[in-house]
Amino acid sequence: MSADVPPSALARCATHPDELAGATCQRCGVFVCGACTTWVMGALYCPACAARPEVNYLEAFRLTLWGKRDSGAWLVAGCTLLVALAAVVELLEGRVLSSLELLATTAVGVCFFLGARWARIALLLVPVYWALQGVIGRGVHLAIGFGLLFLGALQLFLDTRNRLFFRVDVSERALRHLWDLRVNNPLARQAVSFGVSAFFVPLFAPIAIVCGFIALRRVDLKARPPIGRRGQAIAGIVLGLGALVLWALFGIPFVIVRG
Ligand SMILES: [Zn+2]
Ligand SMILES: [Zn+2]
Repeated sequence: MSADVPPSALARCATHPDELAGATCQRCGVFVCGACTTWVMGALYCPACAARPEVNYLEAFRLTLWGKRDSGAWLVAGCTLLVALAAVVELLEGRVLSSLELLATTAVGVCFFLGARWARIALLLVPVYWALQGVIGRGVHLAIGFGLLFLGALQLFLDTRNRLFFRVDVSERALRHLWDLRVNNPLARQAVSFGVSAFFVPLFAPIAIVCGFIALRRVDLKARPPIGRRGQAIAGIVLGLGALVLWALFGIPFVIVRG
């Protein structure tokens, strides 16, 4: 069948008229040859569409956070300030060695805040150093305290958002997870937490219901990027209504009887 079709009638690439088209762009429908075929997040596009931020929304999201300081960096900065003050105190009291140790720790914290990549590793080594000091004889509490701090530092080391601040590559899966948490209808998640809070503070019940309804209206799975969390939006509304009913049945009569 296809052998009967003259070559001139076959679909050709929009950019390279000499090349036969192997596929069509999923967004604009233009014919693309093998060289022009661009895969983005599991779908096929022409090069122009692939570059659009709404098509490659994860890449656009990554670029907004690339090299931008995160809350982890600010937390490290706050701790560093305390360490610097401790270094000054030690110096004033004549404990030079101890002061130098604290100054070295301060330097790591400052470089971490400024985004120097080596400081990511150094920040892991700082609690290890201080925990070892505890083991050697400065006190068990030091060892336990800095052992726990090491876990915090390790969590920060692996954190997707913090990796983006240091311009360290992250997997598409990790990026999608972060995008899901921050951009994918966060109001629906807030509706659920307001809904749970409403069982303790009735004022949160109407807030949960309103947030739930707004979040539910935002759900659009066909949009690009898709907006989800329908289940959580509904859960927020149900929890808010449930809390209202419970408060009306038990809470308010209880207050009246007591009064
Ligand atoms: Zn296209
Ligand atoms: Zn082409």
